[in-house]
Amino acid sequence: MVTELLSTSSADIEIAAELIKNGELVGMPTETVYGLAADALNPSAVAKVFAAKGRPADNPLIVHIADISMLTELALDIPEAAYRLAERFWPGPLTMILKKKDCIPDITSGGLDTVGIRMPDHMAARMLIEKSGLPVAAPSGNISGYPSPTKSEHMMRDMNGKIAAVIDGGECSVGVESTVISFENDNTVRILRPGGVTREDLLEVVDDVIVDPAILHELSEGQTVRSPGMKYKHYSPLAKVSIIEGEYEDFCDYVNQHKGNGVYALVFDGEESGVTVSALSYGYDDREQAHQIFSRLREFDLLGAKNVYVRAPKAEGVGLAVYNRLIRAAGFEVIQV
Ligand code: AMP
Ligand code: MG
Repeated sequence: MVTELLSTSSADIEIAAELIKNGELVGMPTETVYGLAADALNPSAVAKVFAAKGRPADNPLIVHIADISMLTELALDIPEAAYRLAERFWPGPLTMILKKKDCIPDITSGGLDTVGIRMPDHMAARMLIEKSGLPVAAPSGNISGYPSPTKSEHMMRDMNGKIAAVIDGGECSVGVESTVISFENDNTVRILRPGGVTREDLLEVVDDVIVDPAILHELSEGQTVRSPGMKYKHYSPLAKVSIIEGEYEDFCDYVNQHKGNGVYALVFDGEESGVTVSALSYGYDDREQAHQIFSRLREFDLLGAKNVYVRAPKAEGVGLAVYNRLIRAAGFEVIQV
């Protein structure tokens, strides 16, 4: 299959929408990461998504909508708080887990009776959904286990020859996947996966926000997981990633003592000169780190890195999402210095 690279022109989005209607897959830019889009209501189209990514069948897909009216077509028993959250954060990086209607096929929901729904804040994504007239299931567009794509080149590297088209919508502004929440009761939500909408943001709309323990800690064997995606190793480049937690000077000492062939460091902006190995930087504040993290992890593979020592981000604000992705990339290995 030849994978066509499309622009965000209205004519090209029209082509992409036809592909979706015909059960084909399209790489779709969003503000979070690039998604691998398919007609959410078509089980054979959704089966192609699982096959192209090599995604475990029990890991459900998020369904993307372009209009709030689509919400009631897809979900049941929607709590009042969901409408308030949608009003405040949509379009944007917030996915809400709701009871699904029968029109959502089991393959899309990974066999669960719930469905994750969000409205993306990217014109091309919303035009694609509007022009196809369909809710679009879209997991991150990477091969399962690798860092998510935040540029069309990343999508092409993982999916070229496997899908019909990729829409080049530029670099993703947020850079990490959406915040996924479920409802405990009408005024309490639980963050299952941290993202661009923070705990503090959610507290502006609901009374209580629980941060699921699986976000920062490895699950012990047999422990039930509320979000199936949490149990898989994830976001990892080919290089071995280790997170180093501690002061800058101690980080540098540790890395310099472990200097060797294929050893690299990922530091904050302006810190490159403190280490004697080659280093990349990934911003300074939490938003910038989220924006750059996946792109940097992919760059290390292009450089042929074998070991990457990462300066631990602050697990606050959007930094919680960055930390969550990095500890999974590191297989939960955090070195204290
Ligand atoms: P991705 O598609 O790569 O952004 O991953 C989607 C994430 O949302 C995964 O961690 C899924 O497990 C989670 N998710 C999607 N739908 C549901 C659902 N119905 N219940 C719980 N988690 C979900
Ligand atoms: Mg993913």
